[in-house]
Amino acid sequence: MLFGMPLIETSTSPVVLRLNRDLTRMIKRGHPWVYADALRELPSAPPGCQAVLLDNKKGQAIARGFYDSTCPVALRICETDPEKKLDSRWAERRLHAAFALRRQFAEEGQNQGVNTPRSPRQTTGYRLVNGEGDGMPGLIVDVYGDTAVLKLDGNGPVGFWNAEEIGPWLAGERGLARVFERRKERGAKGRSLSGLEPDQTVSFFENGLKFTADVVYGQKTGFFLDQRDNRQFIRSWSHAARVLNVFSYTGGFSVAAGAGHAASVTSVDLAPAAIDAANLHWQMNGLAESQHVGIVADAFEFLIQSANERQRWNVVVLDPPSFAPNQESVTAALTAYQNLIESGARVTASQGMLAVASCSSHIDLPMFLNCCEEGVSKARRRGTVLNISGQPFDHPTPLALPEFRYLKFVAMQLD
Ligand code: SAH
Repeated sequence: MLFGMPLIETSTSPVVLRLNRDLTRMIKRGHPWVYADALRELPSAPPGCQAVLLDNKKGQAIARGFYDSTCPVALRICETDPEKKLDSRWAERRLHAAFALRRQFAEEGQNQGVNTPRSPRQTTGYRLVNGEGDGMPGLIVDVYGDTAVLKLDGNGPVGFWNAEEIGPWLAGERGLARVFERRKERGAKGRSLSGLEPDQTVSFFENGLKFTADVVYGQKTGFFLDQRDNRQFIRSWSHAARVLNVFSYTGGFSVAAGAGHAASVTSVDLAPAAIDAANLHWQMNGLAESQHVGIVADAFEFLIQSANERQRWNVVVLDPPSFAPNQESVTAALTAYQNLIESGARVTASQGMLAVASCSSHIDLPMFLNCCEEGVSKARRRGTVLNISGQPFDHPTPLALPEFRYLKFVAMQLD
């Protein structure tokens, strides 16, 4: 316990904000975002400065949070009890609650440089803090073995959370060798908050399988931890199957399929470094080299060409990057998903499984299921839904914040 260290910024007194409409019920239910257009005034204040929110009626204080006048989500709520101060003690309580939720990972043991997992389910790569879902808006912490990666989502969180103090605090509490901060801007190099700068890749286990993550330059914080449960699902359906993993990145689904005794696995990604890593991960898990093919190609072209060549796979996984980064791109994205699903269906064997994912928060599950229906039907196939899933429990979301449940995963058997 390093009590008294400022885990959050408390130097200035909170700004007072007032709602211009009645959102109290929504806020009390746990929706943590207040958009700028719902506030009476937008006083100027440094991004991330603390704020007290008053209701639109009697001007009663209803919540505390932090403010960024330049962000469409001008206020992020941390507390719906306005009496509770936002200070280090508050931050520690929230952090400890996040640790408690993930205690099953700690019980399985950290990966302190071991080469073999202690149990077939051992998982040492997981999300330790998921922002709003853990009551800590904008703060993300992912753990890979003895390394943690911290990410702050926007200028508000950067101003509010004291990354320099959180890093060493986390290292002490969790016995981590290093804590590294990633920057939001793509390609920007981060900085070390505790310990030495990590080697570009760090290793960890996911359900007993060994992976590496490039925590310095890789996508997200280095690995798509949010697909863990879905990789287990694919693993359990891969026995003796020919498996195609499109948008494979570093081969998470491919290795899971290999471990599930697939007859063969093909990984396709546009990025040569991703395919190199997929090959490496295959090898690291002792899987037979002849059973994996890594192909650097454009996914859309690869699928069309394979369909023309009448190639078929028993299990096809499509996990593309987000097609809808904003509300304006939703219509185009729905068409893109439909076309992709159609192409995937054309290479799925009869009675095979097509599993598709979408990580666009602007497209909800009913919309995505509709894309599946349209895409499969355009390929003149019929689908049976086997599984619908999303993020694992270490990516929790407030019930009242559906936008936060961005991941959709639909597995269908095609006739
Ligand atoms: N399924 C992966 C994560 C996929 S992320 C996992 O479980 O880890 C999306 C991937 O799509 C990235 O690796 C990116 O390089 C790749 N990608 C983006 N556009 C592509 C395209 N047109 N063709 C092939 N791959 C593409």
